[in-house]
Order: sequence, then C-alpha cells, then structure tokens
Amino acid sequence: METKGKENNIENVVIIGSGPAGYTAAIYAARANLQPLLVTGFNSGGIPGGQLMTTTFVENFPGFPDGVLGPELMDLMKAQAERWGTNLYESDVISINTLKPPFEIKTLDGVIKSNSIIIATGASANRLGIINEDKFWSKGISACAICDGATPQFRDEELAVIGGGDSACEEAAYLTKYGSKVHLIVRSEKLRASAAMIDRVKANSKIEIHWNTKVEKANGVNWLENIEAINSQKGPVEIKVKGLFYAIGHTPNTKFLNNKIVLDKKGYIACKSGRPETSIEGIFAAGDVVDSEWRQGVTAAGTGCMAALATERWLAEKNLSKTIIRETTEPEKTSSSSFNEEEANEDTFNSNSQWQKGSYALRKLYHESNKPILVIFSSPSCGPCHVLKPQLKRVIKEFDGAVQGIEIDIDKDQEIAKQAGINGTPTVQLFKEKLLKKQWQGVKQRSEFKEAIQNII
Ligand SMILES: Cc1cc2nc3c(=O)[nH]c(=O)nc-3n(C[C@H](O)[C@H](O)[C@H](O)COP(=O)(O)OP(=O)(O)OC[C@H]3O[C@@H](n4cnc5c(N)ncnc54)[C@H](O)[C@@H]3O)c2cc1C
Repeated sequence: METKGKENNIENVVIIGSGPAGYTAAIYAARANLQPLLVTGFNSGGIPGGQLMTTTFVENFPGFPDGVLGPELMDLMKAQAERWGTNLYESDVISINTLKPPFEIKTLDGVIKSNSIIIATGASANRLGIINEDKFWSKGISACAICDGATPQFRDEELAVIGGGDSACEEAAYLTKYGSKVHLIVRSEKLRASAAMIDRVKANSKIEIHWNTKVEKANGVNWLENIEAINSQKGPVEIKVKGLFYAIGHTPNTKFLNNKIVLDKKGYIACKSGRPETSIEGIFAAGDVVDSEWRQGVTAAGTGCMAALATERWLAEKNLSKTIIRETTEPEKTSSSSFNEEEANEDTFNSNSQWQKGSYALRKLYHESNKPILVIFSSPSCGPCHVLKPQLKRVIKEFDGAVQGIEIDIDKDQEIAKQAGINGTPTVQLFKEKLLKKQWQGVKQRSEFKEAIQNII
C-alpha cells in the first residue's frame, strides 16, 4: 500500500477509542482510503476493545444468530479495521489541542498531529466497589440488565438491582421477564425516577423495594449466590440472589478533553441530535461518549459509521485529505480469530516453535527446553486475555527464538491450571529451567515482560 500525503507526519484522521464506535469509524475511514490512526486506549476509560471486552455472550448484535463472545466480536472488528489499512497505536490520550487543524493529540508516549479527530472513548459504568465485586463481575454481577438479563443463569432466579433512578426502575421491570423476583435496592427512602416509572415499579408484584439499604458484599463460589447489605433501620440483611445489576449511572470518558469541547449537563459530549459534529469544527464524536440514553454496541457502531462519513466529507470539503493508493482493490483476507488455534499434540508439537497452545506443549517445553518460557493462562471469554495475547506474541517475536510462548486455556486444561495455582485470567508465568521466575495477573505493558525476560536470558 502506497501512502500519499501524511506530510509532516500529519494524519488525516485520528480515532480515539477501540470500542464498537471507534472500530466502525476506522473501518469506514480506512475504506475511504484515509488510512486512519486509531489510538486504542490502554488504562484510562477501559481496556482496548472497550466495554464488550468485559462481557461474555453478546446476543443482540446483528449478524450473530447464536450470539458471540464480546471479546471475539471485538477481535473481529479490530481485524476488519486493520484489514482495510487502519494503523493501531496502543496508548491513552492525555489531552488534545483543539485550536485549529492540524490538532495535536498528546498520548502517554508522544504527540500526534491530525487534520481531524473522531472521539469514541465510551463511558464507564459506575461500580460500587463492594467486597468480592471483581470476583463476581460477569459471574452474577453486571452493569447492563438489557445486555445480560436473558442469561440462562438468571432464568427463574431471584435477582437484584441497585439504584433509585429511571434506569434502575426500568431495569427492575425488565428483569421481571426473566427472574422469579426482583429486589430493587434503594440507598435512600425514595426513588428519583419519574412518577410514571415509580407507579410501574410499585404496581409490579414481582418487584420488592428495599429502602434505606446499602449493599456491602457479594458471596458465592463460582457464581453469585447472595448479597449482604445494611438497612439503616433494621441492620444487616442477607438477600439470596443469582444476579446483581448496577444501575448507578455511567461516567463518560471525557476527562482528557479538559472542557475544550462542549459537554452536556451530564458530562457527555454535546452533539446536535443525530449528528456527529462536536462544538469544534473537524472534531467528531461517536458511541457511548455522546449517548447517555441507548448505550448499546450496535448504536455505538452506527454512530461510528456516521462520524467517519462526516469526517470524510469535511476533510474533502476543506481539501485536507491525503488519500492512499492501494496496490490492489481488495486487501488480503484476515486470518480467523486467534482463539481458534489448534492445541499442540504428539504429532504437531514443535520444540522450536515460538508459540504453541495446550498442556502437551507446556509439559514438553517445561521439562526439555533451556530457554525462558512465557505461559499465558487464558479463557475464551476473558476480554483482557484477548488484549494480552497479541502483546505477548509481539514480545516473543522480538526475542527471535530466544523465548518460547505457551497458551493454556483454563477451561480446557483445568488440571494444569490447578497445578499452577491459577485463580484468575489472564495470568502470565515466566519459567526458566523449571523454575518460576515471575508471575503477573491482568494486562501489563510489554516492557514489563521484556525486562523480566532480559534479566534471565
Ligand atoms: C458488562 C457489559 C455488557 C454489555 N453487553 C452488551 C450487549 O450484550 N449488547 C450490546 O449491544 N451492548 C452491550 N453493552 C454496552 C456496550 O458495551 C457499549 O454500548 C459499547 O461498548 C459502547 O461502545 P463505544 O465504542 O462507544 O465505547 P467503549 O466500548 O466503551 O470503548 C471505549 C474505548 O475508548 C478507549 N478510551 C477511553 N478513554 C481513552 C483515552 N483517554 N485515550 C484513548 N482511548 C480511550 C477505551 O480503552 C475503549 O477502547 C454492555 C456493556 C457492559 C459494561
């Protein structure tokens, strides 16, 4: 692919955020030959891939009649964006200079200049921080009743919703379709919802309201079983529920804008209804960061498309776009999802391979290799694992055969995960000659792994 333009390293368009809005904008901008640069985000405002990386099955995104795992859906969007020429840049945006194009976008690692920007940084669901919240997140606790309510584990079970506003009431009413009973847990002695909504909740015999109640702890083994709360009049209460839904609001990820773009009263980017233009010409916005109402993957994708089309038109109007010329009209097809890799067995194991999967390969390398071995314990529904795996592959590639990588799917290889003492994914262990040298949990910067490997090579 030949790049025309990009004079003085000025991008046509920088997209900030790698959720459904960001990737859809990237697909459209890339297909318009604008070769967008997409800043994926890393820590602030969620992980690369956005909110759907934190859920299991997405059952309502069109085109997947049997549902699709959130992380897998995001991997597919990413692959589609890259296939058409989107460049990904893994960092967080700290600030932007909105004076005039080219705009300056400051990231953790430097400054990017771009003639236009699409902001797709999403919104983060507020959490309560109760005891065991992380343990039961997506295993009974959710921030999205509409997304997760139909999950089989919730059918005909008692469920709870925390909150006292319109969303909480709506979610409680919605969940009565699935649960045998819904406990609506309200911190104060009144609901903040509209009168009509309050009437609806009170008229629903399947909803029990717990006033003046504050949830403190979630309990269970592998799935949520009950919650402990304090009622300011009655004291401690225990409620047996299989689902706990937070409806305590979202915080749009707009901090890095430092009020340089007009926000609405709730802190979301203010755009005219149904339009992606922000208060600054040349800067567009899409997805949950502009949407306090619908907040769905498909609506985010839809507005991402609008933002890219509007950007393309604006750049053309201002004569600012420098489009690329493709050598072939049809880019190479993507390879299938990285989680479909085959496990190594007696016939396919290769002692020199840089990356293999499964317990057979691990056992062989653990006993026979004198090189450092980096093992990632993952599971298919773990979003952060999808983020980390390509990072580790890059690290291993950079060491050019001096390190070997193994992936263990703990769903399939439960025994080996147990032996290794794994209690969450992703966990990465670094071994050399049968000795565990270092262990990490969660998504970490590539530099951390590189440094640890360098120290033992
Ligand atoms: C648990 C859960 C389950 C859900 N299930 C469903 C479902 O089943 N169906 C459905 O349609 N919707 C579902 N949703 C809602 C859906 O995930 C969101 O509506 C959708 O992801 C919004 O997309 P977005 O692109 O606007 O933002 P997000 O997905 O939030 O992505 C925002 C991106 O911006 C990045 N970012 C943030 N700040 C910065 C910064 N400063 N610099 C760089 N990057 C930054 C983040 O890293 C992230 O990549 C669910 C939400 C949750 C929380």
